[in-house]
Amino acid sequence: MPEGQVSHRNAIVLTDAIAGQPLTMVEAPEPRLAPQRIAERLAGDTLDHMEARGKHHLFRFQSGRVLHSHLQMSGKWRAFPAGADIPRAGLWLALHTDQAIVAQYRGPVMRLLEPGEPLPRIAAVGPDLLGDDADPEAIGMRLLAVEPTRTVGDAVMDQRVMSGIGNVYKSETLFLAGIDPWRPVASLTEDECRAIGRIGAELLAKGVRDGGRITTYRTPMATRGRPQGTWVYSRRGRPCRTCGTPVRSRGQGDGNRTTYWCPTCQV
Ligand SMILES: [Zn+2]
Repeated sequence: MPEGQVSHRNAIVLTDAIAGQPLTMVEAPEPRLAPQRIAERLAGDTLDHMEARGKHHLFRFQSGRVLHSHLQMSGKWRAFPAGADIPRAGLWLALHTDQAIVAQYRGPVMRLLEPGEPLPRIAAVGPDLLGDDADPEAIGMRLLAVEPTRTVGDAVMDQRVMSGIGNVYKSETLFLAGIDPWRPVASLTEDECRAIGRIGAELLAKGVRDGGRITTYRTPMATRGRPQGTWVYSRRGRPCRTCGTPVRSRGQGDGNRTTYWCPTCQV
């Protein structure tokens, strides 16, 4: 699964490989790209640099054209030395120079914009909790930089603060951190911010490792060898697994996304 860190690594590797060298050949064998005539439009152009924003890749050419690529779950960029016999399976695009080839596989999002054409709406994206060299506790501290009156449950979902926590992990992370999602961000201690980052990253890593969104740990009662689902997410009215208080839920934040919490365990 490509994460934000992959994009940042690609920015360095791909810029290094071909920036400043005129393209000697452009191949775009993927049929879905045919209407854009990318090979013809990029012929003879020169890459200035590639810029990563979250999982978005923006290749900025000296002509002012911008190639926008998003890898989603399947796509991949690779660099090869010039003249290499590159793999053809899944090849969407190959940019050749005298020194190197950079090639994109399995798309799935690619668009070539003319000079001055507006960029796709890309919000600034904060550091990814699952990034290879991410420091989740430091990322958690970024919460203190957002509007102090915003609630915690709203702020952890803000991808400009940290990238990775969606609606399920919001409720689960704040439950395990023992933090009431309705508190204003300004009331968080530094220790609480660090705990949110650390627990969020642990749950996300567990989700990647085990597949799916199972966040609870096995307890003697629950399991019979099977994972038991979530602590509070989607458990409105059911007893808290820790204290028995009925789990509550309510829409929160700009998107009014439902937050689940235990009013006893989360203070
Ligand atoms: Zn509880």
